[in-house]
Amino acid sequence: QPLLDVDHLKTYFYLDDERVAKAVDDISFSVYPGETVALVGESGSGKSITALSIMQLINKPGRIIDGAILMNGEELLKLSTKQMTKVRGNDVAMIFQEPMTALNPVYTIGNQITEMLRKHKKMNKQQAKTRAIELLNTVGIPRAEEVIHEYPHQLSGGMRQRVMIAMAISCEPKLLIADEPTTALDVTIQAQILDLMADMREKFDMALLLITHDLGVVSEYADRVMVMYGGQIVEEAPTKQLLRTTKHPYTKGLLGSIPKLEEDTNRLEAIKGTVPPAYDFPAGCRFSSRCPFVMEKCTQVNPELELIESNHNVRCHLYEDGGNTDE
Ligand code: SF4
Ligand code: MG
Repeated sequence: QPLLDVDHLKTYFYLDDERVAKAVDDISFSVYPGETVALVGESGSGKSITALSIMQLINKPGRIIDGAILMNGEELLKLSTKQMTKVRGNDVAMIFQEPMTALNPVYTIGNQITEMLRKHKKMNKQQAKTRAIELLNTVGIPRAEEVIHEYPHQLSGGMRQRVMIAMAISCEPKLLIADEPTTALDVTIQAQILDLMADMREKFDMALLLITHDLGVVSEYADRVMVMYGGQIVEEAPTKQLLRTTKHPYTKGLLGSIPKLEEDTNRLEAIKGTVPPAYDFPAGCRFSSRCPFVMEKCTQVNPELELIESNHNVRCHLYEDGGNTDE
């Protein structure tokens, strides 16, 4: 049974001038216990809105207008605000690109972790303090006894992200959602943080939904990849399969920015243009305005996401009828 089941989710933003931004437009996917699933795409493709929808942290003028989100079979969209707050602490936690925005600058690190533990784990002050130090040790923060008395701005970006991970795992969630967790960090620190998340995933037996624009990260950490474009999933497969037999022109374009990818004879140099705004998708395939393989049909009909071989789903007219038109 899946841990998380997202079913035909639509999250739209109703703009002042009556335009509607279809940020997430009918996506369905599951995450199984213990799995690492990557959600990949350029910024503006709908990845973060997908994550925030799962957490129910969508603010006006955005709204989840359709679909279901099940966590262990429980429909999250039907929960009260209070029940959802509980879910956010205990079942699913999220870390963000810039930990500074998620940490409160006026409270010490220790304060923020103990607060969570007291609220969600019903610990007393001393228990919470002891546990906070343990957690900081677990995420590889040296001299944790001192760090609990420090403020977020006193730590480096990498250390702050470690603190965020400590807070996320403090309630032992079954699912950790990480939205570009290393994008704001130095390259040398990025790998350390990703390794730490992988360790924590294993140690706490969590599933990880890893949001990234970097397919390089994906190859090392994810079991399965979903590629998002224009608020929809355009390709989905186990990681090795997706990298070895990349199908969708957009995914090929994303890979074009990774040097030294053997076997891929058909890679694009880079994708031209930018992601169209979610209130102004082209008619037909949403990638048609940038796709080097665009055909007439593409500008008229948005293809369905279809299973073209075992475990491999693609949304592209090139692969209709089971991929017979494959190059
Ligand atoms: Fe390109 Fe057409 Fe496939 Fe869209 S459907 S990705 S425009 S070939
Ligand atoms: Mg984002």
